[in-house]
Amino acid sequence: MPDPNAPIAVIGGGVIGLTSAIRLLEQGFPTTIFAKATSPHTTSDVAAAYWAPEPILEGGPRESWALTSLATFQQLAADPTIGIDIMPLYELADSLAIETFAGALENIALEEVEDVPFGVFPSPWSGLRFIVPRIDVPTYMPWLFQRFLTLGGTLQRTEIADLRTLASDFRALVNCTGLGAQALTGDPVFPIRGQVIRVRKPVDLPPHIISAASTTEVTYIVPRRHDCLLGGTFQDDNYDLQVDPATAISILQRCAGFHPALQHAEIIEHRVGLRPGRAQVRLEVEPLTATTTVIHNYGHGAYGHTLSWGCAAAVVTHVKNLQR
Ligand SMILES: Cc1cc2nc3c(=O)[nH]c(=O)nc-3n(C[C@H](O)[C@H](O)[C@H](O)COP(=O)(O)OP(=O)(O)OC[C@H]3O[C@@H](n4cnc5c(N)ncnc54)[C@H](O)[C@@H]3O)c2cc1C
Repeated sequence: MPDPNAPIAVIGGGVIGLTSAIRLLEQGFPTTIFAKATSPHTTSDVAAAYWAPEPILEGGPRESWALTSLATFQQLAADPTIGIDIMPLYELADSLAIETFAGALENIALEEVEDVPFGVFPSPWSGLRFIVPRIDVPTYMPWLFQRFLTLGGTLQRTEIADLRTLASDFRALVNCTGLGAQALTGDPVFPIRGQVIRVRKPVDLPPHIISAASTTEVTYIVPRRHDCLLGGTFQDDNYDLQVDPATAISILQRCAGFHPALQHAEIIEHRVGLRPGRAQVRLEVEPLTATTTVIHNYGHGAYGHTLSWGCAAAVVTHVKNLQR
């Protein structure tokens, strides 16, 4: 049984902090989130977002976290108010890249994988078709926050400059600060800049996600409940949160290559998010003081939503192990 006198602090209110806190509360651990920014002002709110198959190519913990999350999203999709919809994802590549891409993805043991023949999409695109959860973040992020509150979680909207300031009040600190972990721990987490455009959905837009990787860039079209997200960029070490107009024009043109009506779609807003880049997700335990331990859970790069529920389950296991 969890020790009711051992409250947990989660630092960070993005998807990683919220899912960790929810799983801890469900297991009976009193949990407080400390967050500098909350939805809709986190990177998690800028995400496209869909469950992406790439992490399961790597095997190991990433595969297991991604598959745990997939199962959770499939359950959540049963309640339409949560914002998860199951839909086809076309993972495409141009003719130069396709061999490596398809070869690598062949190993995925998902029933939903199907080859997309040349000719279905404009030349030179071809690839694979999956059935995946699409996460409508404007619906889902508020749902996560509400679920956290309903379970009895409390929020303190504040920046934590030093983890040791929380040590006397909490048995465990779960560090879910994303790119903020750089300042908090000295770990060289780096930004991977993503620029996107939110447009009104053209009436005849097909209800599937397209993600098309050329050797130089990735183009994606993600239809959501009330709009459509167009992307994107993956710019390492770029901290610029300003919208770049030339990039926006290029995104619109590339997306219009798949669906011409997108060239003139009504633009609702432009957004930029900085993904928390790291060679590997840091999900590990580190002693802080004699009585307090930190469980790090950050550095999810382009796959925070995809890995979130699996990582949250691993956090709960670490917290339970502390009590043994
Ligand atoms: C354009 C774009 C598209 C994406 N598409 C996808 C997708 O399709 N699928 C997918 O799986 N992922 C996608 N991602 C990646 C995903 O959004 C990230 O991996 C995820 O948001 C990381 O979540 P996080 O909670 O770690 O970070 P964040 O959402 O950045 O949250 C960090 C939290 O920590 C808080 N914080 C930081 N430092 C401190 C501090 N010192 N004190 C207190 N609070 C602090 C912040 O205020 C915030 O609340 C996309 C990202 C972008 C930008």
